[in-house]
Amino acid sequence: MSIFRVDMSQKTVMSEAEPKGKILGGRALVDYLLIEYGTPTVHPLSQESLFIVAPGLLAGTGAPQSGRLSIGGKSPLTGGIREANVGGAAAHKLSRLGITGIMVEGRCKDWQILKIEAQGAILESAGDIVGLTNYPACDKLRERYGDKVDIILTGPAGEMRLANSTVAVTDPDGRPCRHAARGGLGAVMAAKGLKAIVIDDTGGKVRKPIEGEAFKVAAKAVTDAIKSGPATNALHTLGTVMWVDSDNGRGSLPTNNHHLGSFEKHENINATKFTELVKARGGSFGHGCLPGCIVQCSTVFNDQSGKFLTAALEYETIGMLGSNLGIDDLDAIARMDRKCDELGIDTIELGNTIGILNDAGLFEFGDVKKAESYLEEIEQGTAMGRILGSGVAVTAKAFGIDRVPAVKGLGIPAHAARSSKGWAVTYATSPQGADHTAGGVAVEHLSAEGQGDRSRISQIRMAAFDATGLCLFTFLSAASNLIVPMINALHGMKWSEEDYLEFGKDILRQERDFNLKAGIGPGADRLPDWMMREPLPPTNAVFDVPQEDVDSIFNF
Ligand code: SF4
Repeated sequence: MSIFRVDMSQKTVMSEAEPKGKILGGRALVDYLLIEYGTPTVHPLSQESLFIVAPGLLAGTGAPQSGRLSIGGKSPLTGGIREANVGGAAAHKLSRLGITGIMVEGRCKDWQILKIEAQGAILESAGDIVGLTNYPACDKLRERYGDKVDIILTGPAGEMRLANSTVAVTDPDGRPCRHAARGGLGAVMAAKGLKAIVIDDTGGKVRKPIEGEAFKVAAKAVTDAIKSGPATNALHTLGTVMWVDSDNGRGSLPTNNHHLGSFEKHENINATKFTELVKARGGSFGHGCLPGCIVQCSTVFNDQSGKFLTAALEYETIGMLGSNLGIDDLDAIARMDRKCDELGIDTIELGNTIGILNDAGLFEFGDVKKAESYLEEIEQGTAMGRILGSGVAVTAKAFGIDRVPAVKGLGIPAHAARSSKGWAVTYATSPQGADHTAGGVAVEHLSAEGQGDRSRISQIRMAAFDATGLCLFTFLSAASNLIVPMINALHGMKWSEEDYLEFGKDILRQERDFNLKAGIGPGADRLPDWMMREPLPPTNAVFDVPQEDVDSIFNF
């Protein structure tokens, strides 16, 4: 297995052996490369900055629901280390071609495509792909490179180097609807002059574990655990929209710019309504966003005429572009989701950004037309669009707004912080910024007791889990007894469960250290102060986890 080093300034691609004696993949590899070869103090969009692509540890094998792809770099939103992982088939394909990771350095003035195949990799002019939105860009890339390729690309928002831009990855049906969305990594990719990575794995081989039989046994145990998982059936039949009712019920569905924790019109955007519309328009449930997915939570959502709109209308998008904007129209939310997919914009950050415009008198809750017009402004690259496309913190500064729902510059997700207190500790302290995938805590959500401990263990487990490349919806991040045997059999090693947790701790330590060198110290581990004094109806919760519990998260 090797790492491809792509020098955009010289237009060269070199293959290097992966570091000896280290088990690296996904988030762990992102961190390793950024720390070993990167400089924490450089501007995220400078030519000295790095852009990383890293398949999870188990990619390329037959491990169920593995193959998440980590994208990494220094975030233009947080100014710190950033890893965002995504589905699609790209991770499996890269691994099957023997590629552990890709590190992109330097900068090229004319846009390039990195074409990867069994014979090697080359840079080619992007030509007429530049300026296209993501769906037409993928169509053109397939015309050029064939129907079987998988594509990783930055969209028009990335081309404009907007801080809220994503890296899109094609799903098994070739649609660029899966996004490494958080943290602005689309702009980092674009700042290299790299428009897309195109992967043709013809001739690639499934990775052979060193201990084949042991791997089979371990993978079977994981498959059985996923099949009998707590939410597998519900996610398969409803998708993640199922969380609208549960979050609304416990006062955790952000509504009207985080002023409320439940939405009186939630029945217009919940799973029942969603299912009704999907079925009436010929859409469908139960799609996998990557090969080998057992849960298959993706849904195809069509418009009123039955035309495909999106296959990734997730809970977070419905919360942030729906209830948080006071919008109860699933069609409008789906149209905005599609537009975000086309431009390469993170829906969580955008929902926070448009939401705060209410404080500036520039947005009325429920105004679909206005919300969509702001997306048009981003697409047109107007001055207003560029401000909005730079995320919630920049927009707040531009309009003099002091009530900013963000931590370290990253917008707060759709599990409301004040009424999900353990999760909120993760938002406050994760080196990644306010990220719900960095360590979810869904128990005792209104209690301030013990939330520091819960967040700590969840963040450690998730750090290790993000390195494996397993999907979060296996709900196995705590099941190291199942995961470690797969890693051991693949690599022929003898990790204990303790070693695996230590792996997670090391990831967090390295990320904290990178951030410290980048100028982000423990003082940044804070929720916005207004969340400590402004009650969130209907629970009227404030964030009241003791500060010492928050500050001692990384005492391990
Ligand atoms: S469960 Fe959902 S998010 Fe996870 S791999 Fe399957 S389709 Fe993708």
